[in-house]
Amino acid sequence: MCVYVPDCRNKRRVADFKAQQREEDAIPSPASRSIEDIFVFAAKAAQRATKTDGDADIAPEIWDDFHSSGLAVSPLPEELGGASLWDPRHGERLCEVLRALGGADLSIARLYEGHLNAIGLVCRYGSREQIEDLAAHVAAGALSAVWGADDAEALTIVSGEGGEVLKGRKILASGAGFVTRPLVTAGGALGQQMCLLDLEPGYVHDISGWRAQGMRATATGTVQFTGRRVGEREIVGAPGDFMRQPHFSGGAWRFCAAHVGATERLVDLFRDHLRSSGRGEDAYQLERLAGCVADATTARLWVEEAARRLASDIDAEGIVAFANITRMVVERSALNVIERVQRGVGLRAFVRPNDVERVCRDLATYLRQPVPDLAMSDGARAFLTSVTPVGEF
Ligand SMILES: Cc1cc2nc3c(=O)[nH]c(=O)nc-3n(C[C@H](O)[C@H](O)[C@H](O)COP(=O)(O)OP(=O)(O)OC[C@H]3O[C@@H](n4cnc5c(N)ncnc54)[C@H](O)[C@@H]3O)c2cc1C
Repeated sequence: MCVYVPDCRNKRRVADFKAQQREEDAIPSPASRSIEDIFVFAAKAAQRATKTDGDADIAPEIWDDFHSSGLAVSPLPEELGGASLWDPRHGERLCEVLRALGGADLSIARLYEGHLNAIGLVCRYGSREQIEDLAAHVAAGALSAVWGADDAEALTIVSGEGGEVLKGRKILASGAGFVTRPLVTAGGALGQQMCLLDLEPGYVHDISGWRAQGMRATATGTVQFTGRRVGEREIVGAPGDFMRQPHFSGGAWRFCAAHVGATERLVDLFRDHLRSSGRGEDAYQLERLAGCVADATTARLWVEEAARRLASDIDAEGIVAFANITRMVVERSALNVIERVQRGVGLRAFVRPNDVERVCRDLATYLRQPVPDLAMSDGARAFLTSVTPVGEF
């Protein structure tokens, strides 16, 4: 019986990878070698996920493995030592990585997705010097993140003594305290600007308010920036680049892929429970299991297609509309699976320590993403105003 789900998936994936490599290329590329290590890392992270959740902290040895597996550098361009996973053309491969991490430990998946997103934005909009500088820091162990969420004290760029400075703070910033190369958004005279910062260890942050039911190890909190100098060196791209389409909304498939990984994990755990408890032949449980398989697979297929469409980079409006509807499908599928698994397992699904309990908690929390109603209705409106048949939409 497959008790340790990610490892089982890993073995199959690694085997598939190796077979594919033998066929396509006698010498594996650096990219494919590092991807194999990432799946091995995911399997180890899954084994430690209960402790990570209990401690609300990712242990130093997990970070060591994270770096030595090549995960930290994997978003970087290949010529700078990475696997180019920032590049949407590698979306299919990234989707596998995010699903594996999501199935292993959603907190780690969240931190990795933010790190990759920041590197992607710098690679897309930044200067060569900024890309190389960030790559050097990441290779030396630094983590990045995108800190975009604001409260009433929204971060702005203002004139200060001897140049421009930041005023305000960021909220809901994951990795607060240990991310040292965050990409933050700040209001400037000409619009929203991205700033790639280089923070000193011990910078002012506060994660004491992070009392969420799940995603406890993400160190999500507030970071104060008032008085920090920003110059040309820190400014990435032009005003408005951060929300430029199709990549702003189209990139939502990445967090959806992490959600799918956790949803798939729940389905596998449910099957394990039904088999070990001898309750699997019950007609109602089989109906639940069928629904779970259908929902998890539907969500995966939507996410894979959303990644493919973003990689194609044609029809920006279509890419955005598809990603918006993908968010709806993935959220609904995950909520369906959570409900079926909790009802099918019963009270044990709510008692710690239990992987089902933890994954449900993390997934329910991470599913809360910005403006879901708007994303869904924008997707629907794009179809409403088009004349394309739905089968070609
Ligand atoms: C684990 C975790 C880590 C995170 N890490 C980061 C990070 O590193 N960086 C970062 O920038 N952010 C981060 N975030 C924040 C995230 O990007 C979103 O800002 C946050 O999750 C939004 O959730 P919400 O439910 O409050 O969204 P909301 O957008 O407030 O949605 C809540 C509900 O209100 C509705 N709604 C929204 N606006 C309106 C409106 N104007 N009128 C009527 N209804 C409305 C929505 O459709 C939804 O039903 C993180 C979030 C989580 C859960």
